[in-house]
Amino acid sequence: MHVITTKKNVKGLVVERVPTEVLRLLEAAGRAADAEGMAAYAVGGFVRDLLLRIENTDVDVAVEGDGLKVARRLAEMVGARLRPHDQFGTAVLVLPDGLRLDVATARVEYYEYPAAPPVVEPSSLKDDLFRRDFTINTLAITLNGPEPFHLVDFFEGQRDLKERTVRVLHDMSFVEDPARVFRAIRFEQRFDFTIGRETLALLKSAVAQGCIGQIAPLRLGAELRYMLAEREPLKMVRRMAELDVLRFVHPALAGDGDGWRLLQHLKDVVAWYEPLYLDVPVERWFCYLLALVDPLPAEEARAVGMRIALPGRLQQVLEAFGQQRRGLPAVLDRRPPPRPSEVYRALEGMAPEALLVLMARSSEDVRHLISHYLTVTRGVEPALGGEDLIALGLEPGPRFTEILEAVRDRRVDGELTTKDQEIAFVRETYLARSR
Ligand code: ATP
Repeated sequence: MHVITTKKNVKGLVVERVPTEVLRLLEAAGRAADAEGMAAYAVGGFVRDLLLRIENTDVDVAVEGDGLKVARRLAEMVGARLRPHDQFGTAVLVLPDGLRLDVATARVEYYEYPAAPPVVEPSSLKDDLFRRDFTINTLAITLNGPEPFHLVDFFEGQRDLKERTVRVLHDMSFVEDPARVFRAIRFEQRFDFTIGRETLALLKSAVAQGCIGQIAPLRLGAELRYMLAEREPLKMVRRMAELDVLRFVHPALAGDGDGWRLLQHLKDVVAWYEPLYLDVPVERWFCYLLALVDPLPAEEARAVGMRIALPGRLQQVLEAFGQQRRGLPAVLDRRPPPRPSEVYRALEGMAPEALLVLMARSSEDVRHLISHYLTVTRGVEPALGGEDLIALGLEPGPRFTEILEAVRDRRVDGELTTKDQEIAFVRETYLARSR
């Protein structure tokens, strides 16, 4: 084994903080590595969060030797399904109870010349940890060998966790991978840490040199999504704006106080909506993205979506929202207030994420109209169908849609509540007249 462990035995901490099934899995991974004559370690976010006493059962294992071999043996031992990715020497194990474990071969990455694609080769744990983003993510725990469950700390990760500091491992880190700018901000804000002085200077200089512009759209989109999916997206956005990062995502996103007030309101709206567990789930991060681009002209909002390679459906929602918002105030702000069926017709077809942003930017009265739509009337359908209309003696045709919508409107307004009432309404309104 190449590794010198610290004196720190963390078995007690693991037993205390980690669910038993995860502990059993880690021990089994150690035995699988023993059987293959290799060394296995828990690495990355799991170890960081363990020392921070934050629950995280997302375990990554790195193997000095051949991760796939250890993964195969472990999968047999614990009856897990194995999804290997041969070319990377990594595998995902999925246990019958749904628990997952990532196993990778410890590897080194280097560049043969600047901006070349990295060369990846199996290597020691230390090399593997050195290619990581921040010192707080370089801690590892031995899973086998003479001192199992000992902490491995090559790069002063423990010190930085204690000092609550995000620090890169070397001066070229942000230049090598500008996505780390987002990750630095994300960890700093998530844990209430501080980006170290030198690291901050390196980050600022990389940003000023336009490194964010070099990030490929899909990657940029993923980083932004992670930021906005954090528990406190507003903190992330503030810090990104402060460090000029948003402006480099797209110049129109320079950020202003109004936009942030909207994000604050949105947080309250999302906090109201999510516990309702309606059958219309929302992608929370996407609500925040819509709110971020809300102050922008439609064309610029569209460009932001393109820059981050938004998936097709979401790009459509983003573009449609730009249009939908325009006509809405005329209906929703009307005095006296619109009937529920008018609200229904105005909001029908809007994505739930767009509705939540609309709530966040609306007056209290309008908020109530939208919340009533979301929780009560959205999804209301007539009990009658086309068959019933035929049975009543109506000729099938485009008029059916009109009739059924009229029935639905009255249901939405609470004027009709039973099928018999609907039939009576159709008879009176459409059959009497057509005779
Ligand atoms: P989270 O709690 O957000 O899941 P994590 O630390 O588990 O955080 P992952 O994105 O799952 O983050 O990455 C796993 C590990 O891979 C990290 O701990 C980090 O060491 C490393 N890593 C991820 N992205 C990068 C990167 N861009 N550059 C260097 N190392 C990275």
